[in-house]
Amino acid sequence: MAVVENRTQLADDSFVKEKEAAFLEFIQSKGLKTTRQRGTIVQVFFRLRGHISVEELLREVKRVNPRIGYATVYRTLHLLVESGLVEERRFGDGLARYEGRNEVEHHDHMICLECGKIREFSNPGLLALQEKLAEENGFKIYRHRLELYGACEDPADCKSHQEMKGRA
Ligand SMILES: [Zn+2]
Ligand SMILES: [Zn+2]
Repeated sequence: MAVVENRTQLADDSFVKEKEAAFLEFIQSKGLKTTRQRGTIVQVFFRLRGHISVEELLREVKRVNPRIGYATVYRTLHLLVESGLVEERRFGDGLARYEGRNEVEHHDHMICLECGKIREFSNPGLLALQEKLAEENGFKIYRHRLELYGACEDPADCKSHQEMKGRA
C-alpha cells in the first residue's frame, strides 16, 4: 500500500507561480480586484501544501506581511475554493482545512486523534473493491471520501508531531 506522509516540504517556485496565475485569471473573470495582499496569501498557501487551517495560514502569512488580517485570509481562501484550485475538508474535529487540488492524485486520509497528524494514502485495490461493491448493489459511484480515525503507532512520531504543532 502506498502511504504518502503528510507533505511538509515546500513547493517549488514554478508550481506556486502557476497556481497564482490561475487564481489571478479567476479573480479577473469575476471582475474583482487583484491585490498584493491576496497574491501574498495565495503564494504562502501553495508554498505550504498539506492540510492547512485558516489560523495556520494566517500565522504564516503574517511572517511575510504582518498587516494582513484574518478577514482577508479567510475571504481569499474562500475565493480559492470557489476557483476550484483548493478543496475544503473537515475531519473529525470539524475544523475546516484547505488543500490544493491536483497536488497529488486522488487520495484519502488517516487522521491521528492524539496529535492531529494527517496521513494520505491511496490504493487501487480499494477503488476496485468499491466498484465491485457498487456493482453488487446496483449503484454508480461519482466520488468517494474515506477517513480513518485512530492514532500513530509510533509514540515518538506522535509526540514529535504534537511538539511541531505547538511551535508558533
Ligand atoms: Zn490530503
Ligand atoms: Zn499521532
